[in-house]
Amino acid sequence: MTTCVALIVAAGRGTRLGAELPKQYLPLAGASVLRHSASAFLDHPRINQVRVVIHPDDGPRYAEAVAGLALLAPVLGGASRQESVRLGLESLGDQPPDLVLIHDAARPFVGADLVDRVLDRLTELPGAIPAVAVADTLKRGTQGRIVGTVAREGLWRAQTPQGFRYRDILAAHRAAAGHELTDDAAVAEAAGLAVGLVLGAEANFKVTTEEDLLRARQQLERPLADARSAQGFDVHRFGPGDHVMLCGVSVPHSHGLVGHSDADVGLHALTDALLGTIGAGDIGQHFPPSDPKWRGVDSATFLAHAAGLIAARGGTIAHVDVTLICERPKVGPHRAAMVARLAQILGLDASRVSVKATTTEGLGFTGRGEGIAAMAIATIRLAG
Ligand code: MG
Repeated sequence: MTTCVALIVAAGRGTRLGAELPKQYLPLAGASVLRHSASAFLDHPRINQVRVVIHPDDGPRYAEAVAGLALLAPVLGGASRQESVRLGLESLGDQPPDLVLIHDAARPFVGADLVDRVLDRLTELPGAIPAVAVADTLKRGTQGRIVGTVAREGLWRAQTPQGFRYRDILAAHRAAAGHELTDDAAVAEAAGLAVGLVLGAEANFKVTTEEDLLRARQQLERPLADARSAQGFDVHRFGPGDHVMLCGVSVPHSHGLVGHSDADVGLHALTDALLGTIGAGDIGQHFPPSDPKWRGVDSATFLAHAAGLIAARGGTIAHVDVTLICERPKVGPHRAAMVARLAQILGLDASRVSVKATTTEGLGFTGRGEGIAAMAIATIRLAG
């Protein structure tokens, strides 16, 4: 079977972006740009191993960026991109693969189909690169003025990963040492190797400017752009007892709440809100009051069920907010415990959970102390 190693070049300083961190280490949706790039190759079934070439100053930064990924040990790069690639290729000499894909770490959106096209072309040629046809008219300019128009026919923008037969590109790099060639296809061309063009992708762009970074963030967030909010409301009547369950916390009181479960009005309102975000009916449909098996049950069961339905749809809960409406008991002393309990049941950071309380100024059934009402709103994001 053909063996293939992906060599990811992450040794640059990224000075063009003007950021403190080299661009391959900038955060992108909770992970570094490099981690996104490396993961794309690790996840590809036709790639056996992945090695990253790093800058000598970036050891700790690299370790943090790729923690937990099954990569080969990194190798240190050289003074130029070309030198870094050669050092990376040399490092594979102990167990030379048949093929190598050389990729810029700053292209985090390389698709599996694009990798397949490069690999497929390597069955007929010693080299293959993805490229995009130039669509804009090209001008040659100097000092802010056009001095000529460049014919764009037959012009392509080269991307990575650039694929090669390992022994060929290693020999080409050794022969080209000392030249300042900007991509590996140029190294291959200099050695007289035939290099094929396959269809690249606009999405496989290189994160070079601040604007690119913004575009990258938008591109990653788009799949979770289906944001939804829904509300829930519930009331339970006071009855005999010495405590009430509110948002999963037992609060001492002169009365209890009457209901078929533990009558946790806060959890019921929030469960309905979560069910509403995915149009999954209401709590009574999922847990009928007529079913004796729900008698006295901890309402955390209901809330966890609703959260599970959202997770099964590929959704994530962005925020939940509950308002408890009663004259007594006082909610304030228990609020932090309620937030912590909701966060625990839902598997959320506490910063995404809110619990509030209000009275109705002595008016209505809550004002007369006949029961407690609760309102809730939940916001989720579904995968698009
Ligand atoms: Mg209820």
